[in-house]
Amino acid sequence: MARVFNFSAGPSMLPLSVLKQAQAELLEYGSTGQSVMEMSHRSKAYQQIIETAEADLREIMGIPDTYDVIFTQGGGFTQFAAVPMNLMNKNRKADYIITGQWAKKAFEEAGKYGDARAAASSADKTFTYIPKTCRSDFRDDADYVYICMNNTIYGTKYNVLPDTGDIPLVADISSCMLSEPLDVTRFGLLFGGAQKNVAPAGVVMVIARRDLLGNAMDITPTMLDYKIQADAHSLFNTPPCYNIYMAGLVFKWIKDQGGVQAVYENNLKKADLLYGFLDNSKMFRGTVVKEDRSLMNVPFVTDSDELNKKFVAEAEAAGLVNLKGHRTVGGMRASIYNAMPYEGVKSLVEFMDKFEKENA
Ligand code: PMP
Repeated sequence: MARVFNFSAGPSMLPLSVLKQAQAELLEYGSTGQSVMEMSHRSKAYQQIIETAEADLREIMGIPDTYDVIFTQGGGFTQFAAVPMNLMNKNRKADYIITGQWAKKAFEEAGKYGDARAAASSADKTFTYIPKTCRSDFRDDADYVYICMNNTIYGTKYNVLPDTGDIPLVADISSCMLSEPLDVTRFGLLFGGAQKNVAPAGVVMVIARRDLLGNAMDITPTMLDYKIQADAHSLFNTPPCYNIYMAGLVFKWIKDQGGVQAVYENNLKKADLLYGFLDNSKMFRGTVVKEDRSLMNVPFVTDSDELNKKFVAEAEAAGLVNLKGHRTVGGMRASIYNAMPYEGVKSLVEFMDKFEKENA
């Protein structure tokens, strides 16, 4: 078996030990005589799997009891609609900061349900930075302010959260979830799709301040009503059972690493190695302003499309796969999520160094 280093933006690498455990338990989970895939979501064994997954997520993220945790479906995209339906519930107004395609899509979706306003944007410089905002940029009567915390396509990240005063802050953490410590209490609501740092695609985690829920718009589909989902402990209907089991294994893996802080320190080392190389290279350069660089998604370019193509093809042949940039931006992008080992980034940097010398 020859496993590659997969730099995909998602779905992406899972920890090898997690895959091995899933493999070992594939035919029989514990002594149940069945696979988790075959298990009733109302069974005792499954009840324990989902409860443990939630408890472990609460532990590693430091989620207070005043917040609900929901495992649901429909990808990040469904939350773009669910967030306004649940939270645009006082004044039907929300302010969005547009830092890339995912924030823009969330903003456009919210416009279907109420008065969504773009409070700031970094579109003027192709989303290569995080716009600076202050409290007065947001409407006093906005029901929430929305950010995309880590911009998967453009490789920017909020290192300093916007000051929204008393207005609840909502963040899409799909591509940075569990990559670094986060003060959950700074947020009204967080959501993240699993397929980058948590599990195979198919489950989304929503973490919401309980007092904000319970007042969804009348048109809200039952399945998108966070209060209904929270009260049913994610078992209102059949949840994505196997994905939640996989998420649970990854939460345990994070605990085994020493928690989110330890994972973060490793992520810093990986990112420093790659950004350090980019900052010294004469051929490659990063595309994002330094202070807003993502730890998870690292876009970079050379000055030539030909060279970019050659690089991606030769890297692929060397077992460094999925380095092509997003189709809308071109160039390259290395996604180095939690499960990407340091050795993977080291191999990439060595390969880039060799490529630079050969093609100088
Ligand atoms: N938000 C972010 C930050 C993303 O990176 C993505 C997908 N890559 C989405 C939302 C959309 O997620 P999904 O495809 O699961 O709907």
